[in-house]
Amino acid sequence: MVLILYAWTAQMLCDAADSATRIRLLVSLLALLANGGTARSDPFDERIDERANLVFETIERRGVDQVEVLRAMRRVPRHAFVPQALTDYAYEDRPLPIGHGQTISQPYIVGYMTEVLGLQSGETVLEVGTGSGYQAAVLAEMTERVFTIEVIPELAVAARRRLDELGYTTVESKNDDGYHGWSDRAPFDAIIVTAAADHVPPPLIAQLAVGGVMIIPVGAPNAIQSLIRIRKLDDGTIERDGLLYVRFVPLVSPSQN
Ligand code: SAH
Repeated sequence: MVLILYAWTAQMLCDAADSATRIRLLVSLLALLANGGTARSDPFDERIDERANLVFETIERRGVDQVEVLRAMRRVPRHAFVPQALTDYAYEDRPLPIGHGQTISQPYIVGYMTEVLGLQSGETVLEVGTGSGYQAAVLAEMTERVFTIEVIPELAVAARRRLDELGYTTVESKNDDGYHGWSDRAPFDAIIVTAAADHVPPPLIAQLAVGGVMIIPVGAPNAIQSLIRIRKLDDGTIERDGLLYVRFVPLVSPSQN
């Protein structure tokens, strides 16, 4: 395929009547060669300034200061995680629809929740609610041990494909009800739930490592919920703090019904 393209461009170069056309064709041929024969651009190289601006203006300025979180959010191309028709809005600080009635979270909330986890490289993190895969990619920039669960099969498949295409192959994902966690990968140093539950699922507390942190929005569906931080202290007791008011899509629990 690549060879055909090269041959085709070379033929066009010879046929081109004027020198301006020849130069334009030559430039495209060089660009093709520089891309290793593929004309597709790399999303990581696109919209870098918009990303940096979003991270500075709406995340760092509002108090998120863990360097690794800011670096991760400057790197992950959010525009590759939203539907094609909405890419223009990818670097605005707002949630966006991703189909099936679900949303990719607002960037500030992603930064805030990720910082609360206090994740260090090498630690194990579980995400419940893969959605687009964006939050999982941000986590993957911080540690190579990321596990993520999505209940809607179509979203799980699309997120897996997107994560692979972008090179986030260390992320392990599955299509399941995240209410029950992922017992054979437990314990987790950190758990992030990106859908609102009316109570903290006991299996998730059980799968949190001693010294671990969980962040989860808790409250009635389609209402304002509290973002709760749960810590499992060294003696195994649970400490619970309310941090922020938020609005998330509900955590559905098919296997509870
Ligand atoms: N973290 C996502 C956005 C989350 S939206 C991102 O970065 O794009 C919340 C997601 O949680 C939705 O995709 C929804 O389908 C999923 N979800 C809801 N209930 C769930 C459950 N019980 N287990 C796993 N995923 C669930």
